[in-house]
Amino acid sequence: MTSDSLRFKRILLKLSGEALKGSLPSGIDTQVLAYLAAEIDAVRSLGVEVAVVVGGGNIFRGRSAGEKGISRVTADYMGMLATVINALALQDFLEERGIPTRVQTAIEMREVAEPYIRRRAIRHLEKGRVVIFAGGTGNPYFTTDTAAALRAAEIKADALLKATKVDGVYEADPAFHKDAAKFETLDYLEVLNRGLKVMDSTAVSLCMENHIPIIIFNISQAGNLQKIVTGHKVGTLVGREKYE
Ligand code: UDP
Repeated sequence: MTSDSLRFKRILLKLSGEALKGSLPSGIDTQVLAYLAAEIDAVRSLGVEVAVVVGGGNIFRGRSAGEKGISRVTADYMGMLATVINALALQDFLEERGIPTRVQTAIEMREVAEPYIRRRAIRHLEKGRVVIFAGGTGNPYFTTDTAAALRAAEIKADALLKATKVDGVYEADPAFHKDAAKFETLDYLEVLNRGLKVMDSTAVSLCMENHIPIIIFNISQAGNLQKIVTGHKVGTLVGREKYE
């Protein structure tokens, strides 16, 4: 396979904290990390430039802590720090496979990661390094989904791939509604108007304005990431273009 036959040459992969905890009640499942590192390795070896935004919900979520007495802004900063913990763990597993990786954080902490510098991030990608963006957007009241949309726009990613535990976007939650139909494609406005739980509306709007397709897919099915970058129909595509 040549890099010309790739559908997406530069991807922004959004991994939620939820994805990292596997079947554990909270925290990081190292088996899952090893699995994710292998999935990333597989697409990187095809020549795809891979940037990752990690969430922090497996460790700390600002909104729920905010409701329990910690001020919302402080709780959000705690949530952003949680994403750095996840990013470092993922970096370790990628490097164990020999994949050069850089963590860039929106909240400066020079001893553990580079600060976020867009041009430098792009340079890393061009050199074949996986770049993990941590610290969300660096601002409270945002989510890591929005950070993913923002970074995808900044680095001019060809697509934002949102990894989930379900096969795509359904009319209703498939865990409760067995007959719920899956959408193959959706327009951004349909997602916003119907209030579909794809990503928060800020993230969807950012992708819409910047013409970034979003693919919601099941990361726990091995090979899905590779299928997506090589142009197979996987999950649900949100965007202007349609799956042929
Ligand atoms: N967060 C924030 N600003 C950001 C990104 C994240 O304040 O730009 C905080 C927020 O409190 C959020 C937490 O970090 O609850 C963890 O991120 P998120 O819930 O998006 O992680 P995920 O759901 O992907 O695990």
